[in-house]
Amino acid sequence: MKILFKFLIGSIILLVGGCLFSRNNTSTFVSREEPALGTFVSITVEKSSNSEKILDGAFSLIRQLEKKFSVYIPDSELSQLNIQKKIKASDDLKYVIEKSIYISRLTGGAFDITVLPLIKLYRVAEKRGMAPSDKEIRNIMKYTGYEKIKIKGNMIEIPDKTELDAGGIAKGYIVDRTAEFLKMQGMIGGLVNAGGDIYCFGENPEGRKWRIGIRDPFHKGRIIKTLYVSNCGVATSGDYERYLYIKGKKYGHIINPLTGRTVQDFPVSVTVIAPDATTADGLATAFFVLGAEKGLALADKLKDVGLFVIDGTGKSYESKNFSKFTLP
Ligand code: ADP
Ligand code: MG
Repeated sequence: MKILFKFLIGSIILLVGGCLFSRNNTSTFVSREEPALGTFVSITVEKSSNSEKILDGAFSLIRQLEKKFSVYIPDSELSQLNIQKKIKASDDLKYVIEKSIYISRLTGGAFDITVLPLIKLYRVAEKRGMAPSDKEIRNIMKYTGYEKIKIKGNMIEIPDKTELDAGGIAKGYIVDRTAEFLKMQGMIGGLVNAGGDIYCFGENPEGRKWRIGIRDPFHKGRIIKTLYVSNCGVATSGDYERYLYIKGKKYGHIINPLTGRTVQDFPVSVTVIAPDATTADGLATAFFVLGAEKGLALADKLKDVGLFVIDGTGKSYESKNFSKFTLP
């Protein structure tokens, strides 16, 4: 759950999660924001006689897709897979699982949608007030690992006690699908923002690339970088809002799948630009695990991926091609 701030400083400025975009001319575009996906989703598209109807359709698509991926909805498709261990999946679920495995391979296992049993272990630990022991972690790690997922056509199978959590990637996918829907409705410019997971296409209301501001985590209200992008996904998150506490100690909400433990010395802010929001979202989660140094080394090898990281000391890092996303 991201914290949402709204400021009115002349033009409308929306500050969502770690991210901001601003507009001056609202006459030809229309924006709508609704709570969904555990955050606030805002959609901006050009105004037309049926834009309200198109927005209705977009938000109903978002809610429909949320019902497939949420592990908090017991009868979601993903929950059904976790219960039944073998299902004939929809194309949406199959795509997200395959993309997750692709990102796992790309990141040396830093991203892994099988971490749910570990997340549950930490939740139990929080309730009882005692951190998980090495033995408990080792025991649960028998059930984690993306290599355990079997895919044959649309049949997905996972072993007993293995469970999937698409929380690190599904929001990005839903953003991509929503943008695709808007394009299919004839929209030539738009931006979808689900709490910092963004896809933007075409031109902004000023006839330029979309402007996305990255919030300075150490100076609230200030923008540390401005992106000028279009036809790509952007995932920006600051992890400062979500923790669990065991004996007064803070634990992050992202798991290092290789150690089975929560990532503790994670960056304060990670921004990823990628060809689509699904990839950007998944990679952003992976970069929290990898940290600045390893994350940058990987990002530098990926064509079309830009990375901007701020570490706990306030130092910021850019991948080699990041600057190309900051040109107006
Ligand atoms: P948000 O933007 O909402 O903070 P993220 O995209 O950062 O979400 O993903 C965090 C979520 O991903 C966690 O809440 C958990 O469900 C899941 N997760 C945690 N660790 C990993 C991991 N190493 N790989 C994939 N998913 C993870
Ligand atoms: Mg993510």
